[in-house]
Amino acid sequence: MTSFLTHRARVHDACLPFRSRHSALRTCITLFAPYGFRATYHHLTLSAAIPRRLEADPDALVRAVEELHEARVLWLARAEEYAARRRAEKQAGRRAVANPRPWWLWSRWEGPDRAWYEDPSRHPPLRLSEYVRRQNAMMDGADLPGCPACGDERPLEPNSTGHGWVELCRGCAWAPAPCPCGQRHRLAPEMPYGWKGIWQRAHMGDEGMPNPHRPTG
Ligand SMILES: [Zn+2]
Ligand SMILES: [Zn+2]
Repeated sequence: MTSFLTHRARVHDACLPFRSRHSALRTCITLFAPYGFRATYHHLTLSAAIPRRLEADPDALVRAVEELHEARVLWLARAEEYAARRRAEKQAGRRAVANPRPWWLWSRWEGPDRAWYEDPSRHPPLRLSEYVRRQNAMMDGADLPGCPACGDERPLEPNSTGHGWVELCRGCAWAPAPCPCGQRHRLAPEMPYGWKGIWQRAHMGDEGMPNPHRPTG
């Protein structure tokens, strides 16, 4: 059994304390996180409605890990197929990775999705399996309208870098093009609240509804 499946089983295990089940969910996200670790966790707190007090909804952690698992199955099938093709290409003497790289091999800080790493509340609103399906379809050459990541069709939002502009998707802060100066910049503003608060679900109420007094992003 892979580590992911072992920890998924721990999230399901009602005999374990909530703390251990929550920590097993964390391990699963370190192993597979389509939006990056922090943004994927933030997404799951909302989509699975994980309350601040885990006891208030024992099934919330299970809903979260199942959403992640469903997306991982779709990704894994594609990643295995890709790996097999790469092996065949290498045997045939083609070593260079084809461009564009598959979506799961994007560089974390240079990809168009970097805002998701800067502010965990900026990520596509899609269910994780929908996001994976969308990325896989585009890898197969599908020409989908709107933002490549989330499908938002609104005009991009200009974001000042001090000397130029980087345009971001209004739905998920995807940046189709980097700043013309070629430097990396912070794309999302400083977070109004820290990662620790998100981890402890300060943006969620005790019963699993988003907390009306805190921004959810
Ligand atoms: Zn988007
Ligand atoms: Zn610049």
